Amino acid sequence: MEHTHRTIIEPFRIRAVEPLGITTAAEREVALKRAEFNPFLLHADEVLIDLLTDSGTGAMSAAQWAALMIGDESYAGSRSFYRLESVVRALTGIRNVIPTHQGRAAEHILFSALLKPGNVVPANAHFDTTRANVEFLGGIAVDLLYDEAMDPQADLPFKGDVDLGKLRDVLTREGSNVPCVMVTITNNRGGGQPVSLGNMRAVRALCDEFKVPLFLDAARFAENSWLIKMREPGQGDRTATEIAHETFRLADGFTLSAKKDGLVNIGGLLGINNDALAELCRTRLILTEGFPTYGGLAGRDLEALAQGLQEVLDEDYLHYRHASVRYVFDRLDKLGVPMMRPPGGHAVYLDAGAFAPHLPKNQFPGVALVNALYLEGGVRGVEVGSLMFGKPATPSEPEELAALELVRLTFPRRTYTQSHMDYLVEVVSHVWYHRDKLPGYALLEQRPVLRAFTAKLAPLA
Ligand SMILES: *Cc1c(COP(=O)(O)O)cnc(C)c1O
Repeated sequence: MEHTHRTIIEPFRIRAVEPLGITTAAEREVALKRAEFNPFLLHADEVLIDLLTDSGTGAMSAAQWAALMIGDESYAGSRSFYRLESVVRALTGIRNVIPTHQGRAAEHILFSALLKPGNVVPANAHFDTTRANVEFLGGIAVDLLYDEAMDPQADLPFKGDVDLGKLRDVLTREGSNVPCVMVTITNNRGGGQPVSLGNMRAVRALCDEFKVPLFLDAARFAENSWLIKMREPGQGDRTATEIAHETFRLADGFTLSAKKDGLVNIGGLLGINNDALAELCRTRLILTEGFPTYGGLAGRDLEALAQGLQEVLDEDYLHYRHASVRYVFDRLDKLGVPMMRPPGGHAVYLDAGAFAPHLPKNQFPGVALVNALYLEGGVRGVEVGSLMFGKPATPSEPEELAALELVRLTFPRRTYTQSHMDYLVEVVSHVWYHRDKLPGYALLEQRPVLRAFTAKLAPLA
C-alpha cells in the first residue's frame, strides 16, 4: 500500500470484538488497593488498556482462526507439523525445526545440549529467560552492547548492535569456552532496539573466524527486519521478507518465542542446522515437551503459528505497527514527557526518574507512575526499575537499586486502535501535568526472587 496520507489506519477490519474493562475512578481505587498497589495483582477485567506486555496478547487473524479448525491432532507425524516445518524452513533456511511450548523451553533445551558449566555465552543482550537458562545450567551470560547504546537519551538507530570489539575480546580470551554467540532481535532493553544487518554480518564473520556457532533469539524478527528497512542505509528498497531471509541465513540456528512475531498466544520454536545437535535436542524435547512433531503444542497451535509467521511480514501490518508506536512517542515527546530514545519496535519507555524527580529511588518512582496511569485512566503499564531489578538489603549488603527507573508501555499486536492510542496519550499527559503530586511508595512485603510480581506496596502520602 502507498502511504500518502498521514492518518495511521489499522490495515484490518474487526470481526470479533471483546469488551474493554471500563471502570470508574472510584472502582479503580478500590481495585488497586485490593491489589496491594501492585498492578500485576489486578484482575485483567479491571484494566481498560493493557500494555503490560506484547507476549501472547495479540489478536489472531480470521485465517489463523480458520487454521485452528484444520489442525491435525495426530500424536506423531501431524500434517500441521509438516506445514509449519515447511513455512519455517522457507523463512529461515534452517534445516531442523523443533516446536516447543514457549521460547524459554527452546532456550532450555538448546543450552542443556550445548552448554557445559563455566562456559561463556556472549550476546548483544540476553533476554531475562535466556540469561536465567544459561546461568541455571552453570554458564556465564555476558552482554556486549556498545557503551553509547546504554545511554537512554542517545538517539541512535541500532541500539541493539553487538559491540564488535568487545565480542572479539571475549572470543579471543575464552577460545573454546564459548559454545555459541547469541544475538537477540530486537533487543528488548529499551523496548525493542533493533540490530542492523551490517552488525549481524560482522558478527557472522567473527563467528566464522573463531569457529563458533551463531544463534538468534528471534522473537521479534519481523520488527527487526522492518526497522532495518526503515533505518539502515542501503536496505530501504528491500522487502521485510528479504531482510528476514538474509538475517536467519546468517545464523546456525535460533530460538523463538512465537508469542511475539509468531502472532499466536502460545508457542515457541527451536531451529538448528547441525543435525547431531538437533538430535540431542529432540531427545531432550521428548523428556520435557513431547514428541518432536508437536513439542508441547496442539496440532491447531502449529497450524495457527505457520499462518502467523507468514502474516507478520506483511508490510502494511509492519508499517502500521511501527507507526502507532512512533505516534505515541512523538506526541508525548512534544509535551516534554521524558522517554528512552528512539522508540523501538514494540514499546515506549517512560523515564519515571525524570518524570518524578521529587521521588528518591527507594520510593519507587516507576511504581508511582504505573499506579497513577492506572488510577487516572485504567491503563496498565509495567515498572522496569528498582522494584523489578533491585534487591533488599542484607546484613552484609546495602539495598540494591536499578540504574534507571522506567515504565514500559508495551503494545499488543493488532489489538488496539488509533483512538486507544489517543486516549493513552491523554492519560499520560494528564499524569504528566500533575506529576509533582505523585506519591512515593513503600514496599511492605517481598519475596527473595522476582519480587516485582508479588510485592505488596503502599503509597506514602
Ligand atoms: C518472550 C521472549 C523470550 C521467552 O519466550 P517465552 O515464550 O515467554 O518463554 C525469549 N527471548 C525474547 C527476546 C523474548 O521476547
